[in-house]
Amino acid sequence: MDKTYDHKSVEEKIYGMWAEGNYFSPQIDHKKKPFTILLPPPNASGRMHTGNVLMIAIEDLLVRWHRMKGDPSLWLPGTDHAGTETQITFEKELKKQGKSRFNFTRRELYEQIWDFVQNNKGLIESQIKRMGASVDWTRYTFTLDEKIIQTVHNTFKKMAKDQLVYRGNYMVNYCPKCGTTYADVELKHEERKDPLYYMKYGPFILATVRPETKFGDTAVAVNPKDKRYKKWVGQEIEVEGLNGKVNLKVIADNFVDMAFGTGVVKVTPAHDKNDYEAGLRHKLEVKQVINLDGRLNERAGKYAGLNVAEGRKQVVADLKEKGLMDHIDENYLHTVALCKAGHDIEPMVIPNWFVKVDADEKSFKQPALKAVKNGSVKIYPKWQEIKYIRWMEEMRDWPISRQNVWGIQIPIWYEVENENQFYVWFIDKNGKYKYGVLGQLLKVGSEFEEIISGLQRVSASENVKWVFEEGKKENKRYLPETDTFDTWFSSGQWPLVTLGYPDSEDFKYFYPTSILETGWEIIRLWVSRMIMFGIYLTGKPPFEYIYLHGIVRALDGRKMSKSLGNVINPEEYIEQYGVDALRMGLISGTANGKDFNFPKDKVIAYKHFANKIWNMGRFMLMMQEQYGKDIPFYSEELKLKTEDKQILKELQKIIKDVNKELEKFRFADAADLIYQFMWHSLADKYIELVKNREDKDVALSVLRHIYLNCLKLLHPFMPFITEEIWSLMPKKTNLPLIISSWPEVK
Ligand SMILES: [Zn+2]
Repeated sequence: MDKTYDHKSVEEKIYGMWAEGNYFSPQIDHKKKPFTILLPPPNASGRMHTGNVLMIAIEDLLVRWHRMKGDPSLWLPGTDHAGTETQITFEKELKKQGKSRFNFTRRELYEQIWDFVQNNKGLIESQIKRMGASVDWTRYTFTLDEKIIQTVHNTFKKMAKDQLVYRGNYMVNYCPKCGTTYADVELKHEERKDPLYYMKYGPFILATVRPETKFGDTAVAVNPKDKRYKKWVGQEIEVEGLNGKVNLKVIADNFVDMAFGTGVVKVTPAHDKNDYEAGLRHKLEVKQVINLDGRLNERAGKYAGLNVAEGRKQVVADLKEKGLMDHIDENYLHTVALCKAGHDIEPMVIPNWFVKVDADEKSFKQPALKAVKNGSVKIYPKWQEIKYIRWMEEMRDWPISRQNVWGIQIPIWYEVENENQFYVWFIDKNGKYKYGVLGQLLKVGSEFEEIISGLQRVSASENVKWVFEEGKKENKRYLPETDTFDTWFSSGQWPLVTLGYPDSEDFKYFYPTSILETGWEIIRLWVSRMIMFGIYLTGKPPFEYIYLHGIVRALDGRKMSKSLGNVINPEEYIEQYGVDALRMGLISGTANGKDFNFPKDKVIAYKHFANKIWNMGRFMLMMQEQYGKDIPFYSEELKLKTEDKQILKELQKIIKDVNKELEKFRFADAADLIYQFMWHSLADKYIELVKNREDKDVALSVLRHIYLNCLKLLHPFMPFITEEIWSLMPKKTNLPLIISSWPEVK
């Protein structure tokens, strides 16, 4: 054995040995119950962060433990196309080349992003390997693989047949810059200082940050408890605006905050979430004034064509000039919603595809809620369960359309009867970007075929007739749906699609999976959807257990973020301390299931531990050499002394306790048991006794027996160093540690 443990050379060599031996692929054995776990797919073109490392450490631990116990164990790897995120990254690349997505048709853009991802996905794959993940690479899946797209399309068709999907107008979080919608949970919120404008509004003065949406106002609202305005409620008022006079109704609604501004607010159902909800309650007209391109439309009169910022500036200037601006509070602090790329969200009402989550007792939400309540899916730590239950109870219909190119296209076609019901974006035959209402474009010389072949996007009115590919008729014209599915719509079917649902051998054998391990923050986005799809398509939840780990925070206890400059790059720790130490350090943070600060001290401590066990191995080999004769393999026939019997008994207890802790998902406690036993009972005490023993053959035999069992126990936690030492020790078997047997309790 070398004097010191060199993690750098060992890690690569050992992973190569495992891969070559094909030890990560399970043997299907119908007499045995398999252990199956899915790797929550990281972003294909992303890179590893500390959260991924923790996830891999826990999952690799579980799968190695089960593999050694003799269960056919499958850990399925894959990567996600990460629709919005990847498209934003790619568009940044385009920008560097002086281009944008508006230079390309939908197909061209998709092909370019495909190449971009293929060129970049090597990084995350090599990082997964570097972490020691014993995933079965022969079953590797990417969310945009052809077979996955097919399955996702089939699911959608089944749902359409079961009337669980529909198109409907809906208020969405729309980003005009990204040209897509976002789910509530995807938004970022930021406190910002903006001017608050106090406009004269008929008999009132009212405050708003958004004077440019006034052309879409369909009411003014006050709080029903507000005595100041009681006499106005139910009345119609006349408002002198910038485009002439309008009449608006005064409504009373509890959503109005009496302390905000003057206590009177304008209601713009088309461009504000609260107003939209109020509009539904009071049956107000929804008047859209901002178009999908982020510009004011003809309802804004002379302001049409301006973007929101320009429009606001112009409207404010004109209001001032007309004497309609009372005053401006320049220091108004409020919270704004931003998209993933940091743009302002524009609440917008557009037709969307939805999943009906609560149609009846049997579909989607209710069975998935029941599965957790009745314990057929068990959540660890238990206290996280309430998050799931609350989310499921509150869950509303799920908008699944995304206006991204990068994703799985929704497989339907719109019948073009009324050309004015379509808004299209396309690259014309001269390579020029054009958009507008289909009917008008056709009138001014664009051709239908030209639009189809240069198509970027289609937005069809709510009531347009649609069909699947097989339902198209020869004599009719169709435009394809260009929206893609929300990423969670496909990754929600991950346990099914990765295993080859509905009829592969793998699917029959490995489904339902055993444990779903992931960070608690995606319990809503991902975990709930997998349970819904799993039960809907197979009648069975996709997993038996859910283990949720906490978020790894920065050293300063804050969330890691680029802007705070506190992001920890796991690669640096791997370089310095080795993968095993980093994995153990992170595992120790999982003790109470809560979020935790990056445990740098622990990583260093486990680096010392790695050195300690290396030195123990060296010491043993040295003693054996000094003894000069073969050491017998341990058996109960040996003439044991009390101290031998005692440590053997202690080992039995450790094995039992480690099993117990692992079964309860108490990984940190299991790790600590092994650590304490090896360091204190074995190294500090027993080895000291061995040094002075006359019967060296017995003592060394017992020592080696205990030590080899410890390597086994420790292997799922620290796979590299244990495998390396194992290969250097005399032992009965030639099998590598990864597929050796888990210590037995006698
Ligand atoms: Zn955006």
